Amino acid sequence: MTRLLLIGPPGAGKGTQAERLALAFDVPAISTGDIFRYNVTTNTPLGLEVKSFMNAGAYVPDTLTNAIVADRLKEADAATGFLLDGYPRTTDQVAELDRLLGAEGTQLDVVVLITADTDEVVARLLKRAAEQGRADDTAEVIRHRLDVYTEQTAPLIDVYSARGLVVTIDGLGAVEVVTDRILVALAERGLRASTTTL
Ligand code: ADP
Repeated sequence: MTRLLLIGPPGAGKGTQAERLALAFDVPAISTGDIFRYNVTTNTPLGLEVKSFMNAGAYVPDTLTNAIVADRLKEADAATGFLLDGYPRTTDQVAELDRLLGAEGTQLDVVVLITADTDEVVARLLKRAAEQGRADDTAEVIRHRLDVYTEQTAPLIDVYSARGLVVTIDGLGAVEVVTDRILVALAERGLRASTTTL
């Protein structure tokens, strides 16, 4: 059983690392951002509800986000572990995740904090904007997303640090190098990947 959370500012590389770590540990990567984007793209009722928040770089309301994650964690593939990417992001979401896991008698094993300085993340997000055209990757919305992260999500690092769960990983460098740093840090905590050939 491996229950991981990736946390870090927009553009730190959480999504990229989440995919790789999910393969390595053979657990599903659960990204609330991806779930919301899929619903926006396919025009579901949920997509219509969340679109304006996302395009403005604002967080989707906790009640909606919590309900989505509660459903997703009930799916069979999450029974033997999971990697959360982008959830929880608010203290209310932390409380809900604690409740969900507590009901199963479990908790998170490790919180991986991926760091990258603001200049670097802005540069990466602008590059992604040029390549992928994500609606929330404009300079103005990026600035807002960073502010929201600092205000609402950065405080979670203290919450999880107080529980002794946080490992901090430098997110600068090649993708594989960053993955290796994470795998080493997790192994030091007794979490061994089922494969390291990614
Ligand atoms: P990034 O972290 O790079 O900004 P994500 O793909 O993780 O990108 O999230 C994109 C958007 O999806 C967020 O700006 C927000 O609107 C919404 N979102 C994702 N996860 C959450 C969450 N846990 N709580 C509220 N909103 C969320």
